[in-house]
Amino acid sequence: MRKKIVAGNWKMNKTLEEAKALLSEVVNMVKDEVTGDVTVVLCPPALYLTTSRQYITAGGRVALGAQNCHEKASGAYTGEISAPMLQSIGVEYVILGHSERRQYFGETNAQLADKVNSALENGLTPIFCCGESRELRENGDYIGFVKDQLTDSLFHLSAETFAKVVIAYEPIWAIGTGLTASSAQAQDMHFEIRRHIAGQYGDAIAQDITILYGGSANEKNAAELFAQPDVDGGLIGGASLKSREFTNVVKAVN
Ligand code: PEP
Repeated sequence: MRKKIVAGNWKMNKTLEEAKALLSEVVNMVKDEVTGDVTVVLCPPALYLTTSRQYITAGGRVALGAQNCHEKASGAYTGEISAPMLQSIGVEYVILGHSERRQYFGETNAQLADKVNSALENGLTPIFCCGESRELRENGDYIGFVKDQLTDSLFHLSAETFAKVVIAYEPIWAIGTGLTASSAQAQDMHFEIRRHIAGQYGDAIAQDITILYGGSANEKNAAELFAQPDVDGGLIGGASLKSREFTNVVKAVN
């Protein structure tokens, strides 16, 4: 049975007071309004994770996620945060390989394989991001590119461990641009991702893996995107910063 998830990636936004207000609004709206079988993952800036924990009841519908972690468990890596640290404060999910981390911080597929390992070894669920640039979408083998991202960073995992990963397909050209992939474009790529996984791990695991769509998803387009058979929810950036809109996106999961 595939798990439906809507995750909010707050990126580098909100002061502490604003973050507390957003947390409390989202947690309450989800409690009062969301009836469907969907897990909501809130990913505030790392600085606010400990405070955020106080708003989120362990084992409930809302879970806490980080936006990144280092691949090593500890050591002389000034400014970094490790998977055991996240685990120790009750974080359950971690976004890995977001295109902004790949682009601005030079994260590679090989480094992401190490981050995925560290997250899984410490009981965190990686939300592993993949997706192609606009140039590739227009002129290149964009499906092959996304398949290679999965192969290089995830396919070393055993079947049992791979089954714990959540994948987020986020075409770079759609992130923060207002250019959403059409529901057909999202479905086509999610289908290809699932087929690629089936080739490595078999159909049963491929059918069970949660694959989220990310890229300018909002309260207007979410229902159509989430209605696609291979789209199991969303990774939401801009629209996760407003409680009303984000809750509406969550409610679009059926
Ligand atoms: C994201 O950064 O993960 C994202 C999907 O952003 P946005 O929804 O703003 O395009």
